[in-house]
Amino acid sequence: MQLTKHFTLEEFERSGTAAQLHIDNRVPAALVPNIRHLCEEVLEPLREHFGEPIYVSSGYRCAELNKAVGGVRNSQHMRGEAADICPFSPSTDKAGRLVPDSHSPEARKKMREWAEWIMDNLHFDQLLREHSGNSYWIHVSLKREGENRQMAGRLKIELLEQRAPPSLLEMAEIPEPSSPTRSLS
Ligand SMILES: [Zn+2]
Repeated sequence: MQLTKHFTLEEFERSGTAAQLHIDNRVPAALVPNIRHLCEEVLEPLREHFGEPIYVSSGYRCAELNKAVGGVRNSQHMRGEAADICPFSPSTDKAGRLVPDSHSPEARKKMREWAEWIMDNLHFDQLLREHSGNSYWIHVSLKREGENRQMAGRLKIELLEQRAPPSLLEMAEIPEPSSPTRSLS
């Protein structure tokens, strides 16, 4: 299902971990508007501004998948409000397919530029530049209802030694506070 010009629902359902563990990670119909909203307000404007394809390394996560990848409880990924993204490599693989790049200096520079542009131009709830070992990605979330916090930061994800590589890009985020946030101003 096409959500916006450059993003499909399938990109948000795809997960190496879900495939490996036979987890049904299809998005419930009730959550599709949340994902479309995130695409319309954040991912598509980012895609249009830089004119570069964006890889969604982790989009929607059903509860089982979220648990399997070690996501925080109550993760915004479970409500279709968050995406982990990284760029693609400029070169393709042997079959001519684009390859996501989460580790090269060029990719890291690009993600810094993406994060800065999002911060300066878009509404969001959380914008986190996350990394774990050699992998870097941006976690960005947006709520369709309720207050968006414009919270930006960096987060190092500590991985368990035994965690398998396919999970590398499907990590955590800062938990939402249990009580509603109050405006400080
Ligand atoms: Zn995330």
